Amino acid sequence: MTNLSNIAKSLNQESISSILFEYLDDYGLNKKLIDVVLCESGIYAILSDGKMIKTVMHKNLIDIKEYKKSGAPLFHIFGCKFLKEAEKEEKIEEYKISFKRANSFNFIVREGNREIKVFHDISLELCPECMKMQEKSLDFDSFFQSVFDCLDLQKRKRDVELISIIYKKLKHFSCEKCNKKVSIQDIEDLKLKIYKDSSILKNGAKLKILCKECV
Ligand SMILES: [Zn+2]
Ligand SMILES: [Zn+2]
Repeated sequence: MTNLSNIAKSLNQESISSILFEYLDDYGLNKKLIDVVLCESGIYAILSDGKMIKTVMHKNLIDIKEYKKSGAPLFHIFGCKFLKEAEKEEKIEEYKISFKRANSFNFIVREGNREIKVFHDISLELCPECMKMQEKSLDFDSFFQSVFDCLDLQKRKRDVELISIIYKKLKHFSCEKCNKKVSIQDIEDLKLKIYKDSSILKNGAKLKILCKECV
């Protein structure tokens, strides 16, 4: 088995392209290697070329005790309560990011540092919090298809949210007025302002990213 994660580790994060990312789907990509934004419309990986890709997350290494208690891990499709908590407690690194065309995941059960069992192509349950965030009952097939198609969002609200994240990334998560930089966890502290009349901005841009104090 080719260990694609090791290949990824040896590469500079900046060199991860969307094509490579696609190949990294075996065990999922370690979150350390790539910027991920958890939000209400989904989980987005930010690639070096600025592209955003909708992804799915799951814990791919689980302890035997946890496995005996709760069984297989859950998968997440939104920046739900559990992922936000994991991010706060700095446990988000335990999750893997995957592109998924189907509900089919791999995970490893460990005892200490020893791998006890490797599960392949397992259909996992959706996290109940993510389920709640889904407006209507989840159509798995169409969801997984949409993972690759994150710009094809039906709702304007979601478009704005996506644009906002891309723009924040482009501006290096800094306020355009006072230059205050925020960490990716506090990304919500930066607000996207959309100016309908672009003439009010010197450079003609219609968007501005401002911190809470400058809005
Ligand atoms: Zn979830
Ligand atoms: Zn500011």
